[in-house]
Amino acid sequence: MMDNLDSLYREVILDHFQNPRHHGTLPQPTVSVDGKNPLCGDEITLQLVVDNGVIKEVAWSGKGCAISQASVSVLTENVVGKTISEAKSMIENVKGVMKGNVEAESLNMGDLEALAGVRQFPVRIKCALLGWTTLDEAFKELRI
Ligand code: ZN
Repeated sequence: MMDNLDSLYREVILDHFQNPRHHGTLPQPTVSVDGKNPLCGDEITLQLVVDNGVIKEVAWSGKGCAISQASVSVLTENVVGKTISEAKSMIENVKGVMKGNVEAESLNMGDLEALAGVRQFPVRIKCALLGWTTLDEAFKELRI
C-alpha cells in the first residue's frame, strides 16, 4: 500500500520510521501506557512527563508497520510543550483528518500532512491513529 502513497508523503513517513523522533524511554515518566493495534501487529509504549497540565517530555518505543511508527514519531514532535487540553483537541483533529472531516494543512502540525494520505486506505487508519489513541489512554490514566 505504501506504493500508492504520493512519493513525497512516502519519503516523509519512511524518514520518521527510520529516524524516529523522541524514541527511547524516560527515567521518571508521569505516565507510561501501552497501545496495540492487533489488526496489523503494531505495538507502542508511550511515556509522558506532565507537570502542571503541560506535557514537558515524551518518549516512545515500539514495533510495527512504518505508518504506525511514523505516526507516533510525528505525534511526539507535536505534543511537547502543549497543555493537556491542547493535546486533546489535537487528538480530535487528527481523528477528523483520518475521517476526512478536517484538512491536515489547516492544523499546522508539520509532517501530519504526510500521514493524511493514509485515509484513502481505511484498514491503515488504525495504524495511523495508534499513537493518538494511546495518548488519549495516557490522559485517562492520569484522570485528566
Ligand atoms: Zn500498522
